[in-house]
Amino acid sequence: MEKEKCICGHEFEYDESDPYRGQGRIIARQDLGNVMSSIIYLINKAMKLASEIDLDEPFALKQRQYLNSQAHSAIIFNTRHISQCMNCGRLHIRDSEGNKHIYRPENEQHSHDILISRKCDNWKGYLRGRWVKQAQDQKIFWYGFVKWDTDQSQGDLRFSDWETLQNEYFRIFEDLRSNELIYSAFLIHDDDVTHRYVRKLDDSSNS
Ligand SMILES: [Zn+2]
Repeated sequence: MEKEKCICGHEFEYDESDPYRGQGRIIARQDLGNVMSSIIYLINKAMKLASEIDLDEPFALKQRQYLNSQAHSAIIFNTRHISQCMNCGRLHIRDSEGNKHIYRPENEQHSHDILISRKCDNWKGYLRGRWVKQAQDQKIFWYGFVKWDTDQSQGDLRFSDWETLQNEYFRIFEDLRSNELIYSAFLIHDDDVTHRYVRKLDDSSNS
């Protein structure tokens, strides 16, 4: 996980794969048509697939994974990462070449939390558990963390062994899921996803 350092000295986590507070994607109006066209194309393809074969067949499962990744790519390719320093409110935006541009709020009245979910307090949060290796001084060592952010609680725990990390991840997961506080949860060992949970859209349509 990378850290972004703001001009004001504040550091915040920078990880495009997780829905951390103060991060988002922006889209140029010129690219909006491309995104909509891609999504409509993928919906039509999915409907055709559903009409032709049983969606539980192995071939259909592979096709669904392919369509999911295409939808994901259509969004990521056509949008840019933006993050906000919650200390000073500066916006950090990456251009299409990956170069960072920083914009400072006009005055103190302007929000330092402008990238908060439109659902505000009804936003369903996330839980992440990661066990990763890092090289330092020509040695490799492992460490891990369990991190969550919901409208009820936030946490960031560090671990030095995988067994304890797993136990704590599943204990927190059951607690958050049973209270309907999370939209997604992932447990990742190195690069392998060992547990994955995504709340069904029907369950969250009223939130
Ligand atoms: Zn700052």
